[in-house]
Amino acid sequence: MLRSTLLAAARSPHCRSAAERTPFLRPIVDRFVAGTDVDSAVRTAGELATDRFVTLDHLGEDTTDRRQVEVTVEAYRTLLSRLAWAGLSGRAEVSVKLSALGQALPVDGEKVALDAARRICAAAAGAGTTVTVDMEDHTTTDSTLSIVRDLRLDFPGTGAVLQAYLRRTEADCADLAGPGSRVRLCKGAYDEPASVAFRDKSEVDRSYVRCLRVLLGGQGHPMIATHDDRLLAIAEDLAARAGRTAGDHEFQMLYGVRPDLQRRIAARGHRMRVYVPYGTEWYPYFMRRLGERPANLAFFARALGSG
Ligand code: FAD
Repeated sequence: MLRSTLLAAARSPHCRSAAERTPFLRPIVDRFVAGTDVDSAVRTAGELATDRFVTLDHLGEDTTDRRQVEVTVEAYRTLLSRLAWAGLSGRAEVSVKLSALGQALPVDGEKVALDAARRICAAAAGAGTTVTVDMEDHTTTDSTLSIVRDLRLDFPGTGAVLQAYLRRTEADCADLAGPGSRVRLCKGAYDEPASVAFRDKSEVDRSYVRCLRVLLGGQGHPMIATHDDRLLAIAEDLAARAGRTAGDHEFQMLYGVRPDLQRRIAARGHRMRVYVPYGTEWYPYFMRRLGERPANLAFFARALGSG
């Protein structure tokens, strides 16, 4: 109930402008977001890259303006050239949301998003790194997977994201477990109806394990994105049983979430990648993080109270 309310607020322009005008929120936002500009993003990537890998997300979503799509493509090009220049391409890739690239435009949305994503993939290839295409709400899943398939024809290293809470995902994992296929498996961060998604935590966790079995037993490069101790232990066990070694799969966590655990997993010789968002469009991303952990709300309330 609380999670649904926060996720509804994530989509409310009214709540958004109220939050953006609240300076007391900044310290809590900073826990999850690595600053508003590319300098902060590259600096954070450099710090994390000493023991971890990074995927950087230029924040933004649900764009309905073609000019904004061009601004986003340019932001990624700048980021990728800055990463190359800083010698970070071997440790850092980028994550992209297709809704920031015009996927929801009423005319030719899918075409516009594919064209923009292709230009970002070309810039990433030029910089010596890769792109992972984030997954958004279930109404976009088919379109997003179809765009990833197209991107992979020219850029085979392009990563896909699958959400274990969707009932369809075990089958999608089987489709995407082929040689070289990079797939990030997460639980899923949107408020989805029971007709398409498991709503109960234990059902989502069981689905996550079934998906892990398919991906780790396949021939691709699974990217295990969770902070859940139980699922992490199961993933390590399944990876060992499947004869996996450190270079052929990886763990992923969000910037600001369980950093000590991130470091411990990296120190055990695993590949650990941190998802680092940056930019001014932090509101919906931040609200989804609040929705994941009610305890985060206490920090939020305290910050509001201190104002
Ligand atoms: P949970 O059961 O939610 O959390 C397990 C434990 O982790 C909690 O008990 C808590 O200790 C800690 N934790 C989890 N979240 C938080 C938080 N916000 N603040 C503080 N502690 C926390 N979702 C999508 O829908 N699409 C995507 O493209 C996508 N990409 C992602 C990329 C990465 C690298 C990661 C790690 C997650 C991504 N997600 C994405 C979000 C994901 O779907 C989950 O919503 C999120 O990871 C929380 O699920 P969990 O597996 O950590 O398990």
